[in-house]
Amino acid sequence: MVRDIQLRISLEEEKIQDILLKKSSEFLNVLQTDISGIKILRKSIDARKPKIKFNYKVSVFIKEPLPETSEYQFDYKDVSNAKPIHIIGFGPAGMYAALRCIELGFKPIVLERGKNVQHRRRDLRAINQDHFVNEDSNYCFGEGGAGTYSDGKLYTRSLKRGDVRRIFENLVFHGATEQILIDAHPHIGTNKLPKVVQNIRETILQFGGEIHFESRVVDFIIKDNNIKAILLQNGKELVTKKVILATGHSARDIFYLLDKKKIALQAKSFAWEFVWNIHNTLSTLFNIIALEKEMSYFLLLLTVWCSK
Ligand SMILES: Cc1cc2nc3c(=O)[nH]c(=O)nc-3n(C[C@H](O)[C@H](O)[C@H](O)COP(=O)(O)OP(=O)(O)OC[C@H]3O[C@@H](n4cnc5c(N)ncnc54)[C@H](O)[C@@H]3O)c2cc1C
Repeated sequence: MVRDIQLRISLEEEKIQDILLKKSSEFLNVLQTDISGIKILRKSIDARKPKIKFNYKVSVFIKEPLPETSEYQFDYKDVSNAKPIHIIGFGPAGMYAALRCIELGFKPIVLERGKNVQHRRRDLRAINQDHFVNEDSNYCFGEGGAGTYSDGKLYTRSLKRGDVRRIFENLVFHGATEQILIDAHPHIGTNKLPKVVQNIRETILQFGGEIHFESRVVDFIIKDNNIKAILLQNGKELVTKKVILATGHSARDIFYLLDKKKIALQAKSFAWEFVWNIHNTLSTLFNIIALEKEMSYFLLLLTVWCSK
C-alpha cells in the first residue's frame, strides 16, 4: 500500500536521523518495520512564525517496494536520417523543441545567432570589463537563451501549461540536482545551469540533431503561403519545409521581419499570476490595517472584487 501524507517537521526535528520514518509511522499508525520506503514529493519551508517548520509531502510505501526508476523516461532514438525540422533559437524553447523533435522521430537542425555557453562567457566578460556588446552573443543571446547566466529559478505556479514535472525530470536527466524535483521553490543555480545546457546540447548531437552557432536568421523565403527557405546573415540559404521559431522576446529584428512579411503574431495573454499577486498583497495589507471584524469583512469583499 502507498499513502501520500503531509508532515510538519521543526528545525530541531529536521536534524534527527530517520525523522520522516518516525513521523510517518506515528501519523499512519503503522510499525516502522512495515514501512519499506519513503519518497519525498514536495518540501517547502514555513517561516511565517518564529518557530520555523518544514512542510513535507511524502509517499509512504507500506509493505511494498519503492519503484526504482522514475516514471519519466527519456527514450531518445537516432534521428540522423529522419525528416528535418529547422529550429531558430537555442534558448529553453528551442532546446526543448529539439529534444521533443528527437522523441517524435524528427531531426532538429538548430540555428542559433549566438555562441555556445563556454564561448559566450567571454562576450559577457567583454560587456562587464570593456563595455563592449556583441549583438549576437550577450546576456540575452547565445546557447541557453536569456536566463542562462542568472540564477535558474524554476518556480512556476502554472499547472495548466503541460507537464512541468516532465521538464524538471529532464533537467535532472541532464545533470541538475534531484532537489529540484521536491523543492517548492526549485532553483538550479547560475554556476550549474551552463553545464545542464551543455549536456542538453550533447544529447541533441548524440542522437543525430544538428546545432549551428553564430547563425543568425535574417529572412524567410515564403511562396504560396509555405516556407521554402531560411536566409542566414552569412549569406547561406537553407531549404526547409518546417520551421519552429524560438527566438524569444529580445529578438526585435525577428518581430520586424515577421511584420514585414505579414506573418501574424499572437500576443501572449496577460498572466493571471500578476492579478493574484495584487490580490495577495492587498489581503496582507488589509489584514494588517483591518482591526475591526466588520472592517475585515468589508475589505475581504473588496479584495475578492479586486482580484476579479
Ligand atoms: C536576466 C534574466 C534572468 C532570468 N532569470 C530567470 C530565472 O531565474 N528563471 C526563469 O524561469 N526565467 C528566467 N528568465 C526568463 C527566461 O530566461 C526566459 O523566459 C526564457 O529564456 C525564454 O526562453 P525562449 O527560449 O523563449 O527565449 P530566449 O531565452 O530569449 O532564447 C531565444 C534564443 O534565440 C536566439 N535568437 C534570437 N534571434 C535569432 C535569430 N534571428 N537567429 C538565430 N537565433 C536567434 C537567441 O540568441 C536566444 O538564444 C530570465 C531572463 C533574464 C533576461
